[in-house]
Amino acid sequence: MSEVTEHVHCLIIGSGPAGYTAAVYAARADLKPVLYTGIVPGGQLTQTTDVENFPGYPEGIMGPEMMEDFRKQAERFGTDIRFGYITSVDFTGPIHTIIVDEHKTITADTVIIATGASAKWLGLESEQKYNGFGVSACAVCDGFFFKGQDVAIVGAGDTAAEEATYLAKLCNKVHLLVRRDEFRASKAMVHRVLNTPNIEVHYTSQATEIMGNGQTVTGVKIFNSQTQEEKVLDITGFFVAIGHKPNTDIFKGWLDMDETGYLITKAGTTQTNIEGVFACGDAQDKVYRQAVTAAGTGCMAALEAERYLAAKEHAMA
Ligand code: NDP
Repeated sequence: MSEVTEHVHCLIIGSGPAGYTAAVYAARADLKPVLYTGIVPGGQLTQTTDVENFPGYPEGIMGPEMMEDFRKQAERFGTDIRFGYITSVDFTGPIHTIIVDEHKTITADTVIIATGASAKWLGLESEQKYNGFGVSACAVCDGFFFKGQDVAIVGAGDTAAEEATYLAKLCNKVHLLVRRDEFRASKAMVHRVLNTPNIEVHYTSQATEIMGNGQTVTGVKIFNSQTQEEKVLDITGFFVAIGHKPNTDIFKGWLDMDETGYLITKAGTTQTNIEGVFACGDAQDKVYRQAVTAAGTGCMAALEAERYLAAKEHAMA
């Protein structure tokens, strides 16, 4: 471990709605928070278009613009916002150690974890090979590149349904690959998909290989588990929308988490099993996963960090 270069009262990890809201509260409480953004400053909402369900924006707002507002508000109260990635932590003692970008060591009295979640992939070799060259986990970010073309999207939840209808507006044809014989998405979303003429739903179908010419995607091989048939769909874009994984790997061995990696907090609080370490947002929420609930838990984490520090100071006085 490198030499400790800095000590902070409150270190916030992550820059989605949870992290920035925690920063606003912590900064206003004079905790002088330092926030590390992670590799996607602004988090998942920077990869979306319209956000229509965040209170306070009656006309809706674009995701990246909303996150810019969050950032400015956190900055306005003095949050020290830094681009950087936390590569490991050591929660042994009352002072927590955090390693940034594998070389910088910071110690902190309190840590607020707001690392969010990331898209899941199918795990095919060809999917990895063509990632960024026709394969994407974000239709809203990359759909534009496939204007007027034929594409496929995998998944049967609300995200897949929403992204399929989004793509249908841009693309000539959208093949939606559903692995079971039914959707998981809400009825309203499914209704919309089934009533979009240029979406073709392939039930009981799984992608087995993304095909390409070495540079770009040219097709996808699919296998229908009911008919046992294999066929190739001619497509130029392949989208994956099969859910998310919480970004909590660096906390393994330190913090309690469930079998899928979601951090476990004490009911009704953001407290983890380590004193002074709080978790908020999607990293600890597999139920609601909304920007507004993430922001709400971010606020809770900052208030709890503030109380924790005040109690510690009181005990030492
Ligand atoms: P979900 O976990 O809800 O759905 C994931 C889907 O991917 C499931 O249908 C699952 O299939 C499928 N899947 C998983 N692994 C594979 C695989 N290897 N191959 C093929 N298919 C696979 O994730 P979402 O991202 O869709 O949604 C997450 C949460 O966010 C949900 O609560 C959702 O309601 C919410 N949401 C709400 C929106 C809205 O209200 N506007 C928009 C987007 C999301 P199976 O069903 O067979 O398990």
